[in-house]
Amino acid sequence: MKAAICENPFEMTVGEAPMPVPGQDELLIQVKASAICGSDMKAYEGKHPLIRLPIILGHEFAGVIVEKGSQVDGFKVGDRVVVEPSSVCGQCFFCQRMQYSLCDNLKQLGHQLPGSFAEYIVAKARFTYLLPNGTPFEKGALAQPLAISIHALHRAGFRRGQTVLILGTGTIGLLLLQLALQNGARVLVSDLVEFKLEKAKALGAHQAWNGSSPEMMKEIRAQTNGLGADVVIEAAGSSATIQQAFSAVRKGGTVLLLGLTGHPKEEVPLERVTLDELNLHGTMRYAMGDFSEAIEMIHQRSIDLDALILKRFALVETPEVFEETFRSPQNVLKSVMII
Ligand SMILES: [Zn+2]
Ligand SMILES: [Zn+2]
Repeated sequence: MKAAICENPFEMTVGEAPMPVPGQDELLIQVKASAICGSDMKAYEGKHPLIRLPIILGHEFAGVIVEKGSQVDGFKVGDRVVVEPSSVCGQCFFCQRMQYSLCDNLKQLGHQLPGSFAEYIVAKARFTYLLPNGTPFEKGALAQPLAISIHALHRAGFRRGQTVLILGTGTIGLLLLQLALQNGARVLVSDLVEFKLEKAKALGAHQAWNGSSPEMMKEIRAQTNGLGADVVIEAAGSSATIQQAFSAVRKGGTVLLLGLTGHPKEEVPLERVTLDELNLHGTMRYAMGDFSEAIEMIHQRSIDLDALILKRFALVETPEVFEETFRSPQNVLKSVMII
């Protein structure tokens, strides 16, 4: 089969890869849509802590079943499906307590296993979901970032009427914006890229600032009776936005860290956590039930995904689209390979 193989940092080629063979509990899926994620870009740069090259990247995808293992029930050849790319063991300390995003034996497609920038991929049947008819593959491929956003929102734990500040309006930031609005929040956002701020406003953000604006903090206070935001979600993954999160949150409020800066250590005003009784949470992946909820929301069209997909490309174009995305990240939102 044809696949885009990332051989070394910044070196991706489209060539022949061995046709994957499904095990007893697995499905062989013909990939129909595969989206580029920020973590794919980190791997492309050779900077992802969990991804070793060479590998076929890609974990946000949808496709059609072409073959199934001998022990697979409940699916048939021809079914349209979406795959939850992280397979967990179900047996470790964390899985047994339903915290399966923390599984000790987690393996992810496109991270430790071959990914979806290929014609075919093998996936575990127990992490595969039917994609309802009428829902395009390219939208099904975005179930994964939507599931991450649903999980993040649960971790943020705000109440209706509260003010949520989202720092960073990339794909996850714009999904969080929509979910927070649907859950009754007043949502303020910031980003450095003007067209992403425009998107955020079009999707209903109550206020959108350029994150470099010196007035932003003052205006956030002005908008929150001088208190600060109830919840601040850091979704940009930069040292500057982590600092802004601590400056913008009210006493007793919540800071949710979602972005990764690539630096294991950051200097933060930790004393504020104690003095002002802040809640400091991190969020990663998704919990049980989030994936099926994401697919249902996509099927019901309760989330605007058309606003996020700015580019569609063919498998053979994958290397150049990765390179373009690296060179000009400010022009990119979601790019999806379509076969
Ligand atoms: Zn992803
Ligand atoms: Zn486990």
